[in-house]
Amino acid sequence: MKVLQRNGLVNEVNFDSKEGKEAFWHTSAHVLAQAVKRLYPDVKCAIGPAIANGFYYDFEFPFSFSDEQLDAVEKEMRKIIKESLSLQVYEVSKEEAIAYMEEHKEPYKLEMIKELAEDEKISFYKQGEYAEFCAGPHISNVSAIKEIKLLSVAGAYWRGNEKNKMLTRIYGISFPKALQLEEYLHMIEEAKQRDHRKLGKELGLFTIFDQGPGFPVFLPKGMILKNLLIDYWREIHRKEGYMEISTPIMLDKSLWETSGHWDYYRENMYTTEIDEAEFAIKPMSCPGGMLVYNLQPRSYKELPMRMAELGLVHRNEKSGTLHGLMRVRALTQDDAHIFMMEEQVIEEIQKVAKLIDKVYAKFGFEYEVELSTRPEKSIGSDEEWEMATDALRNAMDAMNVSYKINEGDGAFYGPKLDFHLKDSIGRTWQCGTIQLDFQLPQRFNIEYIGPDGEAHRPIMIHRVVFGSIERFIGILIEHYAGKFPAWLAPVQAKILPVSDKYCAYAGKVAAALREAGIRVEVDERDEKLGYKIREAQLDKVPYMLILGEKEENKQTISVRSRDGEKQELGEMSIEKFIGLMK
Ligand code: ZN
Repeated sequence: MKVLQRNGLVNEVNFDSKEGKEAFWHTSAHVLAQAVKRLYPDVKCAIGPAIANGFYYDFEFPFSFSDEQLDAVEKEMRKIIKESLSLQVYEVSKEEAIAYMEEHKEPYKLEMIKELAEDEKISFYKQGEYAEFCAGPHISNVSAIKEIKLLSVAGAYWRGNEKNKMLTRIYGISFPKALQLEEYLHMIEEAKQRDHRKLGKELGLFTIFDQGPGFPVFLPKGMILKNLLIDYWREIHRKEGYMEISTPIMLDKSLWETSGHWDYYRENMYTTEIDEAEFAIKPMSCPGGMLVYNLQPRSYKELPMRMAELGLVHRNEKSGTLHGLMRVRALTQDDAHIFMMEEQVIEEIQKVAKLIDKVYAKFGFEYEVELSTRPEKSIGSDEEWEMATDALRNAMDAMNVSYKINEGDGAFYGPKLDFHLKDSIGRTWQCGTIQLDFQLPQRFNIEYIGPDGEAHRPIMIHRVVFGSIERFIGILIEHYAGKFPAWLAPVQAKILPVSDKYCAYAGKVAAALREAGIRVEVDERDEKLGYKIREAQLDKVPYMLILGEKEENKQTISVRSRDGEKQELGEMSIEKFIGLMK
């Protein structure tokens, strides 16, 4: 599809690219505003961006907005699309922009324009009678929108600040091809069924107290899941030669000044006071890791040094952005810092990439890789950036992994590889990263003594595999729709005695299975077998073990699987079932 850039040039952009979706959905937001303006000329328009899935627009209506009005707006949008309006872009001075918005009585636009620099050229995008001050880019004609749907209405404070006026936010989605909407709505419905907040409650995995918004609480079954992930994580990292450390949650302000967090990240950090000194609760584990490296002189013989930490970090997220386990204020980040000599970089990055690949394969995730290169504002020399970016590229090439390049999207302290995993309903989640860092080794003056007897600065990477364990659990819940594979299921088998008479035998079977390390529960309630089976299915337990007279006499169990073509696995000895589970 054709995209009109701010400079007036038109280029071909694929809808499937990030830029394509943004231009497409942002234009759809303009169409929404145009339709609302046509129907309700007294409305005030605030902002209307593209978001991860679709777009929204915030309005101040002089009345309370209803569902019938939403239908009317959608209908008007279809009309505008049929008019095949082309978009034009032009620039005006700040004065002219102010005059335009005053004339059109748009106080929110006016407020935003007034904040711009005096000499700034302000671009407007216009389609038909509707013009909006906007940096673009946009698709060049609204007729490219083939399907459009308004999804919901919500309240949203102007600029996200609860002291400001509450506006009406209208969410929508649109697509360039027929049937894409249907597919999307189907996916949304599927996602709703799998919502980790709903399943997390039903399966007794986690909760969030009213007294601790954004701070996840793991319940016994969720804790089993979390510990299983951590055990697995420790096992694979040990095999790869990682050491594990644990650094404090709170550290003195001076450390955060050295690391740069105090200047660049302070609004995301919680602070407190100890012995009249200012402390910050760590938003990342890196600075503590640097101090551990610097505890003693290091030799090249120790490199590459792989130092991992499952750090509990806190970040001050706005309350409106919190979302179950996906967006929280406290999370366990599986960061590791690897210090190495320049000639070790490519091999080491490959090792990390292979580790990430192995972990994602274990959960059945496919993934895509993105390489982000030097942004405009950055530190480090050209040679360093070139070496680091080449190292990331070469490591991927050597592994035959294809990747997309995000030009200029790296961190200011170094380039990075991001791993976006794809879940079972096609959504992508950015989890793993490998980031080169030129900044912290300098700021903490990190060195090693080389074979030449001189001090050198090692190259350092940060890398995470899960990213946040809490978020990864949220993703897993939705990916599996709560049906965890047996190795990960908090309860692997539920023992269902057909009546009270067999509870003693059930207890014996449970003890034998627990002894073998299998996580079991016994349903001793005086209920019908059918009812117990249904409940075990709702709990999504992988195996049900049914015990009655026949089984007790023969000292066996009848095994039923949660899913699969053949649910009845039949009668077997306890030993055979243990073998099956292993
Ligand atoms: Zn780090």
